[in-house]
Amino acid sequence: MKVLKFGGTSVASPDRIHHVASILSNYVQQGEQIAVVVSAMGKMTDLLVKMSETAANGSDAYLEDLQFFSDKHREVVNQLITDSSRHPAILQEIIDGQTELGNLLHGLYLTRDLTPRTQDYILSFGERSSAFILAQVLDSYGTPARYVNAKEIIRTDDKFGSANVDWNCTSEAINRHFAQYPDQVSVVTGFIASTDQGITTTLGRGGSDYSASIIASCLKAEEIQIWTDVDGVMTADPRRVRQAFPVPTMSYEEAMEMSHFGARVIYPPTILPALEQDIPVRIKNTFNPDAEGTLISSKPDPYDTTVKGIASIGNVSLVTLEGSGLFTASTISARLFQVLANEKINAFLITQGSSQHSICFAIRPEDSESTKLAMESEFELEIKSNWIRPIKVELDRAIISVIGDNMKSQPGISGKFFQALGKNGINVIATAQGSSERNISVVIRKEDEAKALTAVHDVFFLSNYYTLNLFVVGAGLVGSTLLRQIQEQAEFLMETQFVEVKVVGLANSRKMLFDLQGIDPENWSKELGERGKTSDLLGFIQEMKELNLPNSVFVDNTASGLIPPHYGGILESAISISTPNKIAVSGPYHEYSRLKNLADKHSVKFFYETNVGAGLPVLTTLKDLIDSGDRILKIEGVLSGSLSYIFNTFREGVPFSSVVEEAQTLGYTEPDPRIDLSGKDVARKLLILARESGLHMEPEDIEVENILPQAALDAPDVPNFMEELKKADGDFEAKRQAAAAEGKVLRFIATLEDGQAKISLQALDGENPFYNLSGSDNMIVFTSLRYRDRPLVIKGPGAGAEVTAAGVFAEILRIGYYLS
Ligand code: ADP
Ligand code: ASP
Ligand code: MG
Repeated sequence: MKVLKFGGTSVASPDRIHHVASILSNYVQQGEQIAVVVSAMGKMTDLLVKMSETAANGSDAYLEDLQFFSDKHREVVNQLITDSSRHPAILQEIIDGQTELGNLLHGLYLTRDLTPRTQDYILSFGERSSAFILAQVLDSYGTPARYVNAKEIIRTDDKFGSANVDWNCTSEAINRHFAQYPDQVSVVTGFIASTDQGITTTLGRGGSDYSASIIASCLKAEEIQIWTDVDGVMTADPRRVRQAFPVPTMSYEEAMEMSHFGARVIYPPTILPALEQDIPVRIKNTFNPDAEGTLISSKPDPYDTTVKGIASIGNVSLVTLEGSGLFTASTISARLFQVLANEKINAFLITQGSSQHSICFAIRPEDSESTKLAMESEFELEIKSNWIRPIKVELDRAIISVIGDNMKSQPGISGKFFQALGKNGINVIATAQGSSERNISVVIRKEDEAKALTAVHDVFFLSNYYTLNLFVVGAGLVGSTLLRQIQEQAEFLMETQFVEVKVVGLANSRKMLFDLQGIDPENWSKELGERGKTSDLLGFIQEMKELNLPNSVFVDNTASGLIPPHYGGILESAISISTPNKIAVSGPYHEYSRLKNLADKHSVKFFYETNVGAGLPVLTTLKDLIDSGDRILKIEGVLSGSLSYIFNTFREGVPFSSVVEEAQTLGYTEPDPRIDLSGKDVARKLLILARESGLHMEPEDIEVENILPQAALDAPDVPNFMEELKKADGDFEAKRQAAAAEGKVLRFIATLEDGQAKISLQALDGENPFYNLSGSDNMIVFTSLRYRDRPLVIKGPGAGAEVTAAGVFAEILRIGYYLS
């Protein structure tokens, strides 16, 4: 005998019931002996709960739901019972049942008195209707079937809502029933049972699985099959973790852990009776019967993965009992457990600090208040005398569990688990590992649950492939180039690096758009235009934080001063940052160090490689030198493409102002060349280099030689500035000639040496590495203990959208390697 249970979604419509009847007929035709357990049609139990509560609140709005309930069942009968000799009687049965349900609800509406006992009776209409209909359909399809109200065969106590089984009476009744009707397929209502007085009870929400297991256990069946809407027990809840996949085999213990820690696919008490009788439990998908499903047994495949699954309980409260009194009073734990037993509180997880100064446990949120009151009363004296601190209840917590029998034989599982959480900035509030080492559980903030599930699932099941979730602000020259590069590289990165770079959020100054599936980087402009809403920086940041996705990176592609003030909050939300925007790191030192500390504290990255030398690896090289024990003696650089171009092309016969004009026309300078010539931008870069070398410097500590006449600096606009600059052509020419007379050239050099940072116009001879600099190249020269005689030189284009975007892209990938 096999016991087959079909869940609510499997019987949610005429089509599906027809499908289930076909599966069952097939079994019978193949000579299998089967018993069937069926849940209420999908969502009908929820609807019955709602109707009874609405009626008991004195609202007649329940009538509409009652009509829906009624139509739903009649529709099945009308569509599937085509035999006109059967149809009227079956429909009448259904109508009679619904009339009774209507009367009951009307009674509630009048009395406004909904007891758990009445509630159970009302809920029984769901399973009674579905099982009755399925039995009739099966019978009318030619497979002799019999409707069985489980009230007749499953006996319980009177704990309405979640009754306890009386195994002796139940076993006797079940065996008697099945002996009596060996030639018919019994279609039994799941979920419901009755007391020895014949009063209807229920086994708890989701309890039809348990009904099947009870029947199988009493009949010593050869197998239990739970037919549901997924391909088996999956590595995580597929509704929460897109990449979850079915687990082929599991032990009873693993399945129990999964269900106790939140995997709804199996109702928790279901496994125990199967384990006791060693009856295999197979989870099958009604919508995909060919899929293997999951086989739960005492002998799972030893070659299956070590970690079988990740489960979570989304809403728990964490209660903490702590204080020095715990250390001395050995009876405290005993008294605590007694309180929990008296209050019938089920703790999901209990941990005790080794110093015994605290015990904490997780419970259902609805039990928080009563637990706190009961504990306060039990420990009143200790609390008064400060032996025990006031009872602490933390709401809005979640439990994430990693489950697998073989974890004990493999070191490093906890390490991987905690690292995945840590890298995503998820704080572990409490942790518990059973001595069986079959389950490692942590308590985290509820809002981190979804992120934790994906991140932890990724490390255990998808270590070769991960997704980087990008939030890109700024789609100007650099931003749009970055999006193009991402699009061009997507396939290559997936194939060679196993990285999926997904643009989840995108904003320019006009529009912003979020898409969890990823915005197509090829059509971002069109998508932003068609689907985007009005841009709002605060709203963008808020939504990014609320999405709380793992492996998130915020990319600020702007030079705007409005965004850096939000960096702190972004890092605090465990989102890494990559940006060419210099403003945040070149402002006051305390802000620079605050952001770096926040990134460290929340285990995320704050990178800004492109702040100096665009795509050139300047800051990473500096960091590598320092981290590997080298000591920087001097840094010199031409750190601006515009100034580099201007001085490299300033030659005999061409006035200085014409060179500046030429640079401006070629787009090498800012629209107002003063921004470059004043040395302000170079000063920012030198400041960043100084800070990255470990110096505590403020912007005003950078000495900048002013090469412009005051009148040029003060000019009201660019044409006037140019006029004033022309007047200084003679002075610049004189400097150039003086240098040339000694075989030297002029270069605007940033220097950091002996704690001094300055930027000055220098005349350099042919020995100097900057002598041969050409075009708009940047060049940075590091003199260090290791590179003392022959300095380390980094040289190349230090500006332009293509190289800057490539620098940002490389940096995003570096963040990804760190997170993966
Ligand atoms: P039924 O109505 O068939 O009893 P349930 O809704 O009770 O179905 O259980 C199936 C659902 O359990 C799935 O649709 C899935 O969303 C959820 N679920 C949670 N965790 C898991 C898991 N680890 N594996 C499979 N399903 C899971
Ligand atoms: N119909 C019941 C419920 O929704 C029992 C079940 O589906 O297992 O809780
Ligand atoms: Mg279920």
